[in-house]
Amino acid sequence: MIDRARETLKSTFGFADFRGRQEEVVARVLDRRSTLAVMPTGAGKSLCYQLPAIMLEGTCVVVSPLIALMHDQLRAARANGIRAATLTSADADWRETLDAFRAGQLDLLYVAPERASQQGFRDLLNSAPIALFAIDEAHCVSEWGHDFRPDYRQLRPMMAAFPDVPRLALTATADAHTRADILNQLGIPEEGMVVAGFDRPNIRYAIGPRDSLTRQLQALLASEPGPGIVYAPTRAATERLSESLATPGREVRAYHAGLPPEVRAANQAAFVASENMVMVATVAFGMGIDKPDVRFVAHAGLPKSIEAYYQETGRAGRDGDPAQAHLFWGADDFARARMRVAEVEPQRQAGERTRLDALGALVETAGCRRAVLLRHFGEDPPETCGNCDNCCDPPKSVDATVVAQKYLSAVARTRQTYGAGYVEGILTGQRSDRAEKNGHDTLSVFGIVEGEEAQLLKPVRRALMVRGALLPTEHGGMMFGSEARGYLKGESELHLVVPPKKQGRRGRSGRD
Ligand code: ADP
Ligand code: ZN
Repeated sequence: MIDRARETLKSTFGFADFRGRQEEVVARVLDRRSTLAVMPTGAGKSLCYQLPAIMLEGTCVVVSPLIALMHDQLRAARANGIRAATLTSADADWRETLDAFRAGQLDLLYVAPERASQQGFRDLLNSAPIALFAIDEAHCVSEWGHDFRPDYRQLRPMMAAFPDVPRLALTATADAHTRADILNQLGIPEEGMVVAGFDRPNIRYAIGPRDSLTRQLQALLASEPGPGIVYAPTRAATERLSESLATPGREVRAYHAGLPPEVRAANQAAFVASENMVMVATVAFGMGIDKPDVRFVAHAGLPKSIEAYYQETGRAGRDGDPAQAHLFWGADDFARARMRVAEVEPQRQAGERTRLDALGALVETAGCRRAVLLRHFGEDPPETCGNCDNCCDPPKSVDATVVAQKYLSAVARTRQTYGAGYVEGILTGQRSDRAEKNGHDTLSVFGIVEGEEAQLLKPVRRALMVRGALLPTEHGGMMFGSEARGYLKGESELHLVVPPKKQGRRGRSGRD
């Protein structure tokens, strides 16, 4: 059977051979065994159901969440001579589609998940030969995933009426938790999971605190002349940054959902055609854009999750040539994200917290970034990759537990109301009218941080915020988060990563 599949691969798709784990997935599906395929974007997931759809008797029903993506897929499938159709509100040819479907003359039928819950659709399925259910973007079925869609929960009851029809779930973004949930929610056995390699060896990852964003980005643009994407957290930020980054000879444009459609389309087309343009965009930009020579992706703020980070950085270097991924993060990104966690429905908070902790571990690690990413996706990578900031320039790790304790004591003694500047002033013993008026110059923590320790205050504050030990108050102050006690009681340790010292003009000789 798999030999016949290889022939179809050549004759219909024009490919010499399977790629990665495609063969395994296709073989399982042809064997009518339900499968979850976890493969990174660009690995060739569509082929995993399109090929069996051609070979098997009956139609492969494909559930796909976005009408725009469905129509792209439809065009591509038809171009390969595959008999495919969509059933969406945007289609005018329903009657022909239904006739062909019932007559068993369709290889592929694309539908949106909303349709799955409709009785009329379930009746329709009963009147046609079904070969396979393919569930694209299957992480949408899980509340652990980053894109939960309640309609996906209707798929299982729909498919349950066809116990003999195999199911193929596909996703690019699933941590261990989400995967287990997909198997469970869609009724796929554990042995049916096939995970393909996530590594993108040509992407160099670099992650660091954001201290002067515009200057940091200017330096990146200066070192990297090719096309690039800068992801900014808000629409306003994309416009502000695109203005401040433009230089003669280097076009920088903004892209976000609030721009008029014709401006968006023009900017996107210009970017795709350009050899050195920088697009400053919200995450709305990038999906479905085919530009293999993007040389860098920079994040000006914290991405939503490791999955989102992987997907967004994955838009760099699709051509296989060297590319860079830079993340500039701030402690306030974490602080704000932790505040938002408190606002989501209670049953989702644990998942959101896990997601943030994973991001915290990625930005704070002294080890290989790639290893952290790949382990997150369930792989067992080598300890070092030789192509990330920490591997190329190993940072030092210092024990900052004592400074963290002093910091939190000062926040406590000043009654969890003041901001970082004030608290750090107390710790370093800076006399001020305000401190005197509050009587804080007589506190035991006044001036207890001296010399080298003072250099650690800012990174310690950042780390405590990342870890949820410090939270911002509404009035610009700081208060304890749930993790603060562990440090004060001596149960938690804080090890900080110190970037390697730049050997600049004021190198070693400058210190005395
Ligand atoms: P995904 O859905 O996993 O992001 P696609 O299904 O869109 O990926 O496929 C990505 C690209 O890889 C497409 O251009 C597709 O034609 C190509 N492709 C898929 N399988 C193979 C193969 N076996 N050999 C060569 N190219 C392939
Ligand atoms: Zn590395």
